[in-house]
Amino acid sequence: MKARTMNGSEIDVSQDALDRLRMEIRGPLLVPGDAGYEDSRTVWNAMIDRKPAIVVRCLGVADVIACVRFARQHQLLICMKGGGHNIAGLASADGALMLDLSLMRGVRVDPRNRVAHAQAGCLLGDVDRETQVHGLATVLGFVSATGIAGLTLGGGFGYLTRRWGWTTDNVIGMDLVTADARPVRATADVNADLFWGLRGGGGNFGVVTGIDYALHAVGPEIVGGVVAWPAGDAPAVLELYRTMAEAAPPELTLVGFMRPAPPAPWLPKDMHGKPIVAILACHSGNPNEGEKAVSAIKSFGRPVGDVLVRRPYAQLQSMLDATQPKGRRYYWKSEYLAGVEPALCEGVIAAAAKIPSPHSAVILFQIAGALTRLDAQHSPVGNRDARYVLNIGGAWEQAADDAKNLAWVRETWTDLRSFSTGGTYINFLTADEGPERVEAALGKGIARLAGIKASWDPENVFRTNRNIPPATAHR
Ligand SMILES: Cc1cc2nc3c(=O)[nH]c(=O)nc-3n(C[C@H](O)[C@H](O)[C@H](O)COP(=O)(O)OP(=O)(O)OC[C@H]3O[C@@H](n4cnc5c(N)ncnc54)[C@H](O)[C@@H]3O)c2cc1C
Repeated sequence: MKARTMNGSEIDVSQDALDRLRMEIRGPLLVPGDAGYEDSRTVWNAMIDRKPAIVVRCLGVADVIACVRFARQHQLLICMKGGGHNIAGLASADGALMLDLSLMRGVRVDPRNRVAHAQAGCLLGDVDRETQVHGLATVLGFVSATGIAGLTLGGGFGYLTRRWGWTTDNVIGMDLVTADARPVRATADVNADLFWGLRGGGGNFGVVTGIDYALHAVGPEIVGGVVAWPAGDAPAVLELYRTMAEAAPPELTLVGFMRPAPPAPWLPKDMHGKPIVAILACHSGNPNEGEKAVSAIKSFGRPVGDVLVRRPYAQLQSMLDATQPKGRRYYWKSEYLAGVEPALCEGVIAAAAKIPSPHSAVILFQIAGALTRLDAQHSPVGNRDARYVLNIGGAWEQAADDAKNLAWVRETWTDLRSFSTGGTYINFLTADEGPERVEAALGKGIARLAGIKASWDPENVFRTNRNIPPATAHR
């Protein structure tokens, strides 16, 4: 069968070689035409359509080692898939050997030491489900079907970021398989350079097989949900958002957004498809305090829908899932903001009035708080001056609508970019964003990452990612 090498040339992999690999692994090996191949090779964003030559659905570290060894023997390009949610489609590559880790979804919680040990194929919801049994949680993102591996390796933020920082600030150890097919542990004490690089440097250093997270007391009951108003109320609602967010305690995270109303049961039918402005809130502390903290939102104006209530934390963590299904076409632009100025709100309102698709949105995520407690170079994620994330999220169904949706996202970005800190979130970069945007995301950390890359992956075996080329050729 034809496959692709690391340097892009084509190579034949014999049936004999494939059979030998099959005998070495526990998980299924799939090639085009096999049942399950399509599901593995496709990613969340339907704009990405790539076909790996071979997919191995790894069942454990030994499978990962066998695959890396096989790839090295045949000089094959490797790609790795966790939740497949990366918008740039980094998980899939034409002609590659794909290590699909999505069967490795075990989670073990140690409530006494407040640590969760998660296999790298877990989705966010897998970890929340197990940690919430003990009233514990770590910092994860807003959509439960996202993979922990990609999210954590690129930084990670969510409702708990204001209290405990980037997801990666909460990582206490990782297990990975290196470019020379060795199982290695990275913590603050063991392979400390590697540990630093993994907390923001993405999949550059190896195939991560397990992640250990520090846990915090959260829930199980919290106050969370969303309140929506007609878009005509946006000037007042965004002003409320702006002023409340600045005064909010760390337990309260507010997300403001504008979009056409989705056909959700909590919104009246006659509003579906009409433009709304909304505030999504999570108070992760004491629910009595939470109810007080969000009362100004619930009593504001005349909302068209209000599901901001006491609820299980794990339920809030999957509340947005239906708005972000796999298989739509997605294109985003994102920036970090130091604040939400009135002029930015005006720009958001103007952009929302031109949204060409019922699924797109302009979103302001609040992240200020614990991030600033750590030094800028604590990990490569950096950007500790960021207080909000602006996401211009284009989402639509048909390829025929690509041009107008891409244009809306790009024009909105051009209009709002001047409010940026200059930094951007590496995990929100789309396929057409190149090295200068990676630099905007990682800043000064890139030089140190290149040195770590040179030590751990001098031949750049792991390159289907936001690639950091090794600084030197030798270890
Ligand atoms: C709907 C949606 C909501 C999101 N919400 C948030 C959010 O709230 N907060 C947030 O911070 N981010 C969010 N993101 C962004 C998310 O962090 C990235 O898309 C991330 O890459 C997803 O991880 P994944 O495992 O699903 O990635 P995949 O697409 O599976 O992989 C992406 C890349 O990650 C690396 N990688 C994956 N697995 C491994 C591994 N085992 N070892 C080494 N490298 C690996 C590889 O380089 C791979 O190419 C969201 C994305 C989507 C699509």
